[in-house]
Order: sequence, then C-alpha cells, then structure tokens
Amino acid sequence: MLNENFFRLRQNYIFSEVAKKTQAFKATHPDVKLFSYGIGDVCFPLGSCVSKAMSDFADKMATDKGFAGYTAEGGTSDLKDAICAYYKRSCGIDVFYDEVFVSDGAKSDIGGLLELFAEGSSVLMQDPVYPAYSDASVLRGMKVGTVAANRQNGFLPMPPNTRFDVIFICSPNNPTGMSYDFAGLEKWVNYAKKVGAVILFDAAYSAFSPDGYPKSIFQIDGAREVAIEICSFSKGFGFTGVRCGYTVVPNKLQVSGTGLNSLWRRRQAARFNGASVLAQAGAVAALSDEGIRQAEVAVEHYKSNVNVLKNRLLCRGLSVYGNGPYLWVRCPDGFDGEEYFDYLLENKHEIVIPGIGFGEEGKYFVRYGCFFR
Ligand code: PLP
Repeated sequence: MLNENFFRLRQNYIFSEVAKKTQAFKATHPDVKLFSYGIGDVCFPLGSCVSKAMSDFADKMATDKGFAGYTAEGGTSDLKDAICAYYKRSCGIDVFYDEVFVSDGAKSDIGGLLELFAEGSSVLMQDPVYPAYSDASVLRGMKVGTVAANRQNGFLPMPPNTRFDVIFICSPNNPTGMSYDFAGLEKWVNYAKKVGAVILFDAAYSAFSPDGYPKSIFQIDGAREVAIEICSFSKGFGFTGVRCGYTVVPNKLQVSGTGLNSLWRRRQAARFNGASVLAQAGAVAALSDEGIRQAEVAVEHYKSNVNVLKNRLLCRGLSVYGNGPYLWVRCPDGFDGEEYFDYLLENKHEIVIPGIGFGEEGKYFVRYGCFFR
C-alpha cells in the first residue's frame, strides 16, 4: 500500500512556475539582466579556512593513518565540542555535548523529528510558512493547524487558545523576515509548558537575528524543558551545498515521562549514519575564530542588502515588512502575488517569490530574499 499522505500534499506549483516563467522571459529577452531575489541560496564562496580544512581532510583520507570510515552518527567529537563553544560565545548559554546531534542540514531534521511523535498528533505552524514544515507534517499523517501571521499581529502570531502537541517556530522567519523578541518567545515557551507541547525551533537564520533579539530559544528561561533547536551551517556559513547542520535536544526535555534526547539518539541510530566527515571538518573550521570572521563578511553584506532593498521598495510606495534575510512585501492594490510577480519580471526585471507559495495568508504578498551581491 502506498502512503496516501503523498496525495494530501499541497501542490506547490509556485516554485516551478517561477522557474518556468523566468526561463521563458530569458529566452525572449536574452540581453536583459535579471535581478534574482527569489531562491534563498547564498552567493558568496566558502571561507578559505573552511575549504582548506576540507581539502586537508580529503588528503588525509587517502592515507592509512588519516582515513575515516563510519563515525558516530551524532557527529565527530571535534565538531560537537566546537558547537558547544559556539553557543557559549554567540549567546552565552551552556549546551551540553550529549545534547548536540550533527546532521546533514536542518531540512532532514525538520522531517525526522516528527518521528518522535505519534502519527495523528497535532502540529501548529504559522501561515505563511516554510513549506518543509507542512510537507513533513502531512507526510507523517499529522493534523496540521495554522495561526495567521498577518498585519494585525505584526507577522508575529501569539499562541492560540487551543492545545497542540508540536509547534514549529522559525525566527528570524522565512518567509516574513520577522524575528520574535525575548518577550514574544517567552509567551510561546510558557504556552508550551502550560499545554504540554514541544516546540521545534528552527534557528536556520540565527546569524540574521537583529541585535538584542534571541538567537537561540534556549536563551529563554524554561525553554530546555519544552524545546528542541534545529540549526544549520547553510545560511550563516555558506554551507548550502556542503550540507551540515545540528539539532540540540536538551536532556531536560520530556514527554509523558520519557526523555526526548534518548529517543532522538535511538532514532538517529536507526535512520542516520552521520554527516559527511568532510563537511564536519569544514564545519569545525567554520566555527574557529577565523571561520567566524570570514563568514561574517558575507553575513554583513546580506544584512546591508536588507537595508538597501528595503529603502528601494519603500521609495516605490510599498509596504515592506521584516528585517531580513527576507522582506515580505504587500502587493500594490489591484495585484495578487502571482500577478505582481509577472509585473516585476516584465517591468523591473526582478525575480521574487509570490507569497501564496508559503500559504493562503501570502496571497497578496511577495517575498524578496537578500542573498545577492
Ligand atoms: N529552515 C528554513 C526556515 C529554511 O528556509 C531553510 C532553507 O531555505 C532550511 C531550514 C534548510 O536548511 P538546510 O540547508 O540546513 O537544510
């Protein structure tokens, strides 16, 4: 029997439609330079210390002494130590070695973590949302509930009155570019405590947190009892192609008296053989002083893009929301997001993503990404 949930997936035609229309425009306008604000892929090369660490490691792999085969599925000890030190350095918090699980990127863990919960559990996410949360939840047979992120709530929805088993939170947010402040995240942590829910906190864009905002949910008191944090080297360190991330499952986190840390360890042992040792060697270098310094050059560039682009869009008289790395832009009257996409491509030679690709609440919005040079 097939997994019927495949037929319940939302047909996300928007992204292929964007690619198709862009190709067609290029074919008929070969001399026009297009400005791509569409896909959220990074556009700076890796830091030189990262590529050197990976190539040195690759050389060592060709020797009897330096060859590495299967390694612990939770990650190499060098990388787990570096991640713990990075938490201390970047947000002053202690994360323990056995709470860190290295992965091949955040997206795999977003889906995998749902296996900790029974099929049919209720999962709450915002609308608009990063489509991986809804796809993974539907495939796992979960009941998906949404809370609107709209102009009324400043695109930062607060907890509902009803109970959910699992809550996805992404801050800084894809697609709105909004970030929860300490008080906002505290409300979610308190809600999760009250109703016995588990928060899956996606910190893939933590490098873009505005100053004074939390970079990690563990900066909130009590979060270790209710939250798992999913992190990535993709956006902050340019690893979208290299593939490396990590998830922190606190020892204190329990559901019905069972610790989720040991459950996730068991799940990973069953389903994962560890991230590439080459990627992990690169990630260790990325978290060195020099690696962090090199990565910051790119991140600072993307952040300055946010301001430049925001001002440009405000000058067009548009309503612009978010602080990066995405901007969530209300279409002018008379356009929905798909029509505005066509208008922007034809008239401004800009590629954006129509907001409907992220949910119904996005119908009259487009997303601009700030990953460009
Ligand atoms: N989480 C969010 C919110 C994203 O937007 C993305 C990628 O765009 C990811 C996770 C995927 O991260 P990774 O490359 O580590 O799989």
